[in-house]
Amino acid sequence: MGGVAIVTGAASGLGASVCQALHRDGWTVAGLDLRPSNTDLSLQADVTDAAAVASAVQRATAELGPIDALVTVAGIYEELPVESITDERWNRMLAVNIGGTVNACAAVVPIMLAQNAGTIVTISSDLGVGGSQGDAHYAATKGAIVGFSRSLGVELQGSGVTVNSVAPGAADTPMLAADSPWRAESFLGTLPVGRLVRPEEIAAAVLFLLEVWPALVGQIISPNAGATI
Ligand code: NAD
Repeated sequence: MGGVAIVTGAASGLGASVCQALHRDGWTVAGLDLRPSNTDLSLQADVTDAAAVASAVQRATAELGPIDALVTVAGIYEELPVESITDERWNRMLAVNIGGTVNACAAVVPIMLAQNAGTIVTISSDLGVGGSQGDAHYAATKGAIVGFSRSLGVELQGSGVTVNSVAPGAADTPMLAADSPWRAESFLGTLPVGRLVRPEEIAAAVLFLLEVWPALVGQIISPNAGATI
């Protein structure tokens, strides 16, 4: 397989795992993140800044050639009861999680449409289709990514560009490092596989959509250790 892929949120956690898996399979990877990423082309940009994302994507095209795949992983999380969700926190959660996903897709879709080919995988969350204590604002943005991905898949039908989403369950990454409830025996005991899903298992789901079955459209695959059964 192989080709050129842009991965947002490439510097850490799931994004870094996706970049490693792509690299192993012969892809050339541009990592877009606030921080430098260990990729073929490290693009430092804030996904909430549409102009900065567009210019980073242009640079990737100029230096690496046509973009075959986009994986939108950049995101933030915080646990907050609903009465503590200030305007500032809500707007930031929206801007990064759904705004960043939209900005990356809006920058890459015209390139893919011009070449009549491309595959987009967004990262939502199983909280975007389920629910969890203290996660209302985060879950709202992840549910928005599910709706956005399905609708974009329909919007692009017949163009050669496909869109799907991976909706992971709790995974062992820096995002959850400070979040002790996810590590508690009581939580792990509720998971049919008895452990958190591993970042490389989520990366494998992304690569399945990019490499094995790029003809799928609007699907939500949830590697989540059985959390939502
Ligand atoms: P992480 O914190 O380890 O990595 C997130 C990356 O996104 C970081 O490199 C960070 O710099 C980057 N980022 C954050 N804001 C950005 C911005 N404004 N512009 C550019 N880059 C930005 O987190 P993770 O656990 O790897 O999570 C990655 C994605 O997976 C997120 O969208 C998250 O919601 C989703 N997810 C994670 C889990 C989990 O349990 N870890 C579960 C379901 C979904």
